[in-house]
Amino acid sequence: MPCATRPRCHFLSCRPSAVDLESEAFAFIWIWFQSGRVKLLPGHRCHDYADLCRRWKLATANLGWKMRKLCVAGGDPIWWIESSRAAAGEPAFYVSAGVHGDEPGATEGLLRWVCQSGKKLADAAVVLFPCLNPTGLRNNTRVDYRGLDLNRQFQSLEDEVCVAWRKIVTPRTFSLCLTLHEDYDAQGAYVYDLSNLSQVFSRELLTTLPKRMPIDARPKIDGRAAREGVIHRKMAPHIAEGMPEAIVLYQLGCPAAWTFETPSEFSLADRAEAQAAFVSGAFKLAPAILNPGSAR
Ligand SMILES: [Zn+2]
Repeated sequence: MPCATRPRCHFLSCRPSAVDLESEAFAFIWIWFQSGRVKLLPGHRCHDYADLCRRWKLATANLGWKMRKLCVAGGDPIWWIESSRAAAGEPAFYVSAGVHGDEPGATEGLLRWVCQSGKKLADAAVVLFPCLNPTGLRNNTRVDYRGLDLNRQFQSLEDEVCVAWRKIVTPRTFSLCLTLHEDYDAQGAYVYDLSNLSQVFSRELLTTLPKRMPIDARPKIDGRAAREGVIHRKMAPHIAEGMPEAIVLYQLGCPAAWTFETPSEFSLADRAEAQAAFVSGAFKLAPAILNPGSAR
């Protein structure tokens, strides 16, 4: 069966052309057989939370940063990172990933940005949450260890992850907040931009992504009006089923909260590269967002 007719074909490593898949039962046996020989999701390294934490510990040690425990959820420690300049009270660049476990391009991209940035990042004001849903990442699921969509819990004053998260973000000042996600329906990269600045900075930033990651040019994305890959809102909407992280960050006073999305059907390498590139560009833009000349 051609890959184009098989949704989520990257789960199958795009190899079925070598085998005549006569039935779904045969396909299942083929996948089971192949999974013993090659790394298929969720056995892929990107879904190995312990391995992700090991790689983060190496990266942060290299920068002189410490990983700090946010809380334990579902038996897994959740980590966060604060650079010394952010701890000293400077407005910080905020990035989180892994709220949805089936979006590994985000978790890999954030770590890639840190590794690619090298020592120059050590002196920056940053607050990072590398993976807020470890069980979901391990299981390759959107939901967390309770079966809940964590990105509809951030208004909660009882949720163990979101309460711990709120204690950290509430007293701090941020220059720009990024929440990194992926979307199965996306046809390219796009941004949900919550800001009331002098210009929509995220639109230009999208044009700087690597060539292998197009902009999602649909006029409507996720049911919302979009232009050149950006869904822009000046007012934070109310989401009846629960509030996403980015909206709560905006309500708490962050001047710009951007949710960056890459298309899950693209290759993991391209998605991670695009995520890292977007974080890198946003990091460079963050001072301009705080600059009185360009801010509201
Ligand atoms: Zn998501």
